[in-house]
This record gives sequence, C-alpha cells and structure tokens, in this order.
Amino acid sequence: MGVSEFMLQGAKKSLIEWLRQQGITDENVLHAFDVVERHKFLEQTNTILLGRAYENTPLPIACGQTISQPLTVAFQSQLLQIRPDDTVLEIGTGSGFQAAILAAMGAKVFSIERQLELFRKTRAKLTNTLKVSNVFMHYGDGFEGLPNKAPFDKIIVTCGAPNVPAALLQQLKVGGIMVIPVGDGVQQMHRITKVGENEFNAETFGEFKFVPMLQKTVKVNS
Ligand code: SAH
Repeated sequence: MGVSEFMLQGAKKSLIEWLRQQGITDENVLHAFDVVERHKFLEQTNTILLGRAYENTPLPIACGQTISQPLTVAFQSQLLQIRPDDTVLEIGTGSGFQAAILAAMGAKVFSIERQLELFRKTRAKLTNTLKVSNVFMHYGDGFEGLPNKAPFDKIIVTCGAPNVPAALLQQLKVGGIMVIPVGDGVQQMHRITKVGENEFNAETFGEFKFVPMLQKTVKVNS
C-alpha cells in the first residue's frame, strides 16, 4: 500500500511541533522543515522508508550512507546562526537534505561528497527532480575543503570527524562559525567561532552519532 500525501503532511506538522519542544526556537529552521520535505529525499519506491520519513531517526540512502535524524539537522542548522546570503560549506552531502534546509534558510550552499555514485544521484535529484536552487555540489574530499570558493561565513560537517581539519579552519572567515561533530564512534558537537586569523573559540553541545568522515574520494562503493 502506498503512503498517502495526507499522512505525510500530518507527520511533518507533528515533527515540527516536536522539534520546537526539543529546543529548536529558530523560526527560520522550523520554516525550512516545512518547506523542505524530508520524504522527497528518500528512495521513492520504498514505502517502508517513506512511512518513516518524519520519525526522528536516521534512514538509509545510497552507498551505505544515512540521512541524519531530523533533530540533528535542526540542531546543527540552529547552531550555525544562518543569516540571509551567508555562504556555507557543507562536508557530506549525502541525500542533500541538510543542504536544502540551509538553502531554504537563505544561504548559498557549497556541498562536498566523497562518494561518486552518491554525488551523481543526489546532484541529479536536486537539479532535475526537486529543482533546489542555491546548492552547488562538488565531488571531493571534505578534509581539503573548497579553497577556490573560500572563505565561508559558515562551515557544517555532517559526518563524524576524527579531528578539526586545518584546511576548514583556514577557509572560515574571521567572525565565521563552524559546526562539527568530533570523535571516533560517538562525537561531541562542537561550535567553533573564528575570532581572529589564528584564534578560535570552541563550545560543545553534547553527544551525537554520525557516519565517519573518511579520507579521500571513492569511485566505487565497496
Ligand atoms: N548531510 C547529509 C548527511 C549524510 S551522511 C544529509 O542530509 O543527508 C554523511 C555523508 O558524508 C556521507 O554521504 C559520506 O559519504 C560523506 N563523507 C564522509 N567523509 C567525507 C569526506 N571526507 N568528504 C566529503 N564527504 C564525506
């Protein structure tokens, strides 16, 4: 049996109310969750997955990766303090959902994915099917960032980083903010503010669990 549009819309509204109760107070984030519909970023033929689109759970996408859980996406988006026309670098495009949320909040988003197959699928979907504007995808290794588009107002890492990559600190504007989960297995959410050319302030926001940030690009899924 299919998943009805009526049911999905109801589940979406409930999720947004729940996010509010969990401390997501940035109306810009909550509005983006209304406009950018998570079910559209899942495999459209899989009705079991579609039926779970608005649960607070990570769900499988292509290449053994996952779309992050909604509260994590909302939490990271809120920590970034997005202002209209911010230029944001995202590491770990995955399904493109987080990138689309930031674009709906008014940012211009550059997003890097290391898996070629996933990069191609998501780029085709965002461009041809969902017609998301202001998201520019790059196939590459996020540890290197995107030097020719730098500096960025904001940087968001959506995979578990073993450390804070030096290239990313460098590519942040002075006054800019990076939100990055750091750690092996379980990560501590960090918000790093660049207060001077070589000066940073760090805050932490509790434990999260992401797929790992891995070195180098991959052409074939293993
Ligand atoms: N933001 C995504 C979450 C995807 S999961 C979403 O909204 O769906 C994290 C993604 O990071 C995976 O697709 C993984 O392949 C990618 N990734 C891991 N290490 C990376 C790296 N070094 N550079 C770029 N992408 C990376």
